[in-house]
Amino acid sequence: MTALRAGSATDAGIVRPNNEDSLLIAEPLFAVADGMGGHAGGEVASTIAVEVLRAAFAGDPTVEGLVQAVRLANEAVLDRATDEPGLRGMGTTLTALALVEEDGEQRLALVNVGDSRAYLLQRGELTQLTEDHSMVEELVREGQISPEEAAVHPQRHVVTRVLGMGPGVEPDVWQILPYRGDRIMLCSDGLPNEVPEDEIATTLRREADPDPAAARLVALARQHGGADNITVVVVDVVDDDDRARSASAAVGSGERADRRDGQDSGAEHALDARPHRKAAGVEDLSPPVSAATPLPVAKPRHRRLTFRVALFVVVLVAVLGAGAAAVWFYGRGGYYVGLDRHQVTIYKGRPGGLLWIQPTVAEHTDLTDATVLPAEVAGLRGGHTEASLGAARHFVANLRSEAPAAEPAAGSGP
Ligand code: MN
Repeated sequence: MTALRAGSATDAGIVRPNNEDSLLIAEPLFAVADGMGGHAGGEVASTIAVEVLRAAFAGDPTVEGLVQAVRLANEAVLDRATDEPGLRGMGTTLTALALVEEDGEQRLALVNVGDSRAYLLQRGELTQLTEDHSMVEELVREGQISPEEAAVHPQRHVVTRVLGMGPGVEPDVWQILPYRGDRIMLCSDGLPNEVPEDEIATTLRREADPDPAAARLVALARQHGGADNITVVVVDVVDDDDRARSASAAVGSGERADRRDGQDSGAEHALDARPHRKAAGVEDLSPPVSAATPLPVAKPRHRRLTFRVALFVVVLVAVLGAGAAAVWFYGRGGYYVGLDRHQVTIYKGRPGGLLWIQPTVAEHTDLTDATVLPAEVAGLRGGHTEASLGAARHFVANLRSEAPAAEPAAGSGP
């Protein structure tokens, strides 16, 4: 079994009156959410996000389940913001890590929306795993500004993707093979905005236990100014089911063969389902694969009744129901005058019926096919439709007045 050990710390910082960040330690699920929005909005949004994530993931602890949990968290934040005028416009980032079992092996699934981050410390090297969904990071990725310019850009806090922004927010998704000795750190932007990356790396290398490591990082962010809320979750892989050892013996890629040492910690990550260079630095990191890119390893083996399927069924039933109602309304909507055996009769419904809806007798009349004009009989056999009962009665009155032999009240039947 893969075993994890986690620690965390959070602080409002020096400048902000409230801490709008939320964190979640619910092994095997860990998350950081950085809420935003006026009044209590940020706090509410980040709290809803981690709570819905926790509850939804518990019901389907798979990679797909985690992605689905993020979608549900988005809907929950959005719903609440719509329902409560004071919370309108609130949103939250969400970065979550979960140990899941896929295709018979244990993996770490990582999802991200927004500019909170996940880092991997492996063999002493710190690598940023997530890509910020922020305006300046997008400009950097497009090569329009340099990372140095981004660090001081006035709009560096503008996020381009957050939960609560609208429907259909999709997270980026990664799968990582956990190796003993790996340390994954989730944090809100209050940490990297204050503390240079090499200092973060040094601290993560120095502090052996997750809790003190997280506390130390938060303290550093405060020392550097603490302009924003700071939240740090540190997750250590303390056992990996001997994966690291067997990985070095595995038949593998050239990259794997070219590892110089035989150390356990030297094993590679199946990050993005592609091997990336050993102990990669930030520059070396392959771009992450978004949820939209099909990952063969991301296919859950056992399909469950996910929320999406349930929603589809509900919508399908609603559509079918509406269709049935429309048919019913049409099928039962009118009247016609026809013959019940020989008796002229007003029916509710359509002549001959419609699908499963059969016409019913609204009222019999005192006329028969023998007492009306012979020319009318064929029309009555086919059914003479009228929009309302009144119109049908009017038609019957006309038939009666046209009747050749004004037989007084013939009664019913021939
Ligand atoms: Mn923040």
